[in-house]
Amino acid sequence: MQTDFLIVGSGISGLILALKLADHGSVIIVTKKSKEDSATRLAQGGIACVIDSNDDFVLHEYDTIRAGEGLCHEDIVRLIVRKAPECIKELEKFGVNFTKNPSTGFYDLGREGGHSRRRILHSGDFTGKEIIRCLIDRVLEHKNIEILEDFIVVDCLTTCKISALKRGEKSSSRCSDRCLGAYCLDAKTGKIHAVLSTLTFLCTGGAGKVYLYTSNPDVATGDGIAIAFRAGARVANLEFVQFHPTCLYHSKAKNFLISEALRGEGARLLDPSGKPFMEKYDPVNKELANRDVVARAIDSELKRTGKECVYLDISYRPKDFIIKRFPNIYENCFRFGFDITKEPIPVVPAAHYMCGGIVTDSFGQTDIRGLFAVGETACTGFHGANRLASNSLLEGLVMAHQAAQKAISIKSQLEASEKVSIPPWDTGGAVDMDEAVLISHNWDVIRRLMWNYVGIVRSSKRLMLAEQRLKPILEEINQHYWDYIITRDFLELRNIALTAQLIIKAASFRKESRGGHFNQDFPQKDDWNWRRDTILQRDTLERV
Ligand SMILES: Cc1cc2nc3c(=O)[nH]c(=O)nc-3n(C[C@H](O)[C@H](O)[C@H](O)COP(=O)(O)OP(=O)(O)OC[C@H]3O[C@@H](n4cnc5c(N)ncnc54)[C@H](O)[C@@H]3O)c2cc1C
Repeated sequence: MQTDFLIVGSGISGLILALKLADHGSVIIVTKKSKEDSATRLAQGGIACVIDSNDDFVLHEYDTIRAGEGLCHEDIVRLIVRKAPECIKELEKFGVNFTKNPSTGFYDLGREGGHSRRRILHSGDFTGKEIIRCLIDRVLEHKNIEILEDFIVVDCLTTCKISALKRGEKSSSRCSDRCLGAYCLDAKTGKIHAVLSTLTFLCTGGAGKVYLYTSNPDVATGDGIAIAFRAGARVANLEFVQFHPTCLYHSKAKNFLISEALRGEGARLLDPSGKPFMEKYDPVNKELANRDVVARAIDSELKRTGKECVYLDISYRPKDFIIKRFPNIYENCFRFGFDITKEPIPVVPAAHYMCGGIVTDSFGQTDIRGLFAVGETACTGFHGANRLASNSLLEGLVMAHQAAQKAISIKSQLEASEKVSIPPWDTGGAVDMDEAVLISHNWDVIRRLMWNYVGIVRSSKRLMLAEQRLKPILEEINQHYWDYIITRDFLELRNIALTAQLIIKAASFRKESRGGHFNQDFPQKDDWNWRRDTILQRDTLERV
């Protein structure tokens, strides 16, 4: 298969990129499951954007930088915040409807933790669904875009990898590299295809599935991070995992998030005896403190009381308001037996957002020529040590614009460069894996290990033990890669294992607590780390 632009992923970043690039060449989007399966579709709260006359770019920048605790790249913050209104207008042109106030006709702006103004554009509480619906409709209308579902990228095809394959070597050494596309597994047929492209974009989303409890969809297995790292690109700040404080606590409610917007509208957090507790942890901001503060407060209450959950109560607000503002949350909670207009909701924290990722410049370019990373999988420096609520859809949206602009300008230059013949995928002596338990067991071990040892509160000893326990699993997975014919489950296991290793490494290097990383042995911020990213590179696995 051959295309001008290969886009991996059908969330907000992948779909916007496809629409921006399709008038400049052929586009293939490969996506792991169905085209609707993404974190974007699950977004409830909305997109932050300075749009109200009472608001100011400087305030949004300040809130973002304050949340990022010394690690935001301020040039990127300015770029994204200031480009937001223009990109939002374009999103509306694609057909996205944001909720308006019927009496004023102006946007009904939501408020979330860490924001000094109401600035969250939303479509009820199913903003992500609305975005995905419109963008997919537009993508399907475009004759230059092809979407391949159940297509999973295994690894990037790079010039170094191809040379190594031709020499019969198992891995490529570090060299000055150019990306020429990717090997993809067609999960329906089990075949591996080489998809050749002038430019390749990893828009693969987050890595929540590395943890036992997560708000993320099943597709969020850190694939982009693992693929780019294996190809030799640098990754950064992976220790900064944001834990969302409030996921519904119910044995059957897999991944259901209770949006921060509820706390923005006055919902209180209560301990199991019904007492509010946030004042103890952040007397000023209380329920609207940043997510890491609220998640740690809940973690501490759970440890103090020995109970399984705390409660979130919005029932004192008028019933009509709750149902109108939060129809999705109301309906879903009702389905699980909780009437949020009458009673508090049981909630627990869960892994939610990866603040770090593949290192890119302000156009989404990685260290490898022709390879871009956009959206949650990338680390542009926008979020620093902690993401401000509703800033991630915004980053995906604006950075897709940036990447498209750069891609269009360099496409002809890359087309003219050397053409390389690609060896077909060689299964060698690999056989079918007839014991699925080899995958499911390691899958469970890794996710539990990460939750218990590398979770909301970390310690140096637990990080060291996590590294030791992961090592033999990584070796086993590496061996299986050569011994068995690869499957979707195996590829995901391989990627969560590597991403877990990188998170542990990054967390061990950071001898302080900052943003989404809290180590009880180093509970304070260390000035030496101010503005220092944790950058990891394949051949050294050292902080560079
Ligand atoms: C429950 C929930 C609520 C949220 N609410 C908000 C909110 O209100 N506001 C906000 O700003 N952010 C929110 N976020 C975060 C935000 O939704 C994500 O950060 C953002 O949508 C990421 O977009 P993306 O395009 O980078 O990736 P995604 O939307 O996650 O899409 C990733 C795509 O890549 C595909 N993929 C992954 N690996 C491969 C592979 N190997 N091969 C092929 N395809 C692959 C996936 O199938 C998927 O299509 C929320 C997240 C969750 C989980």
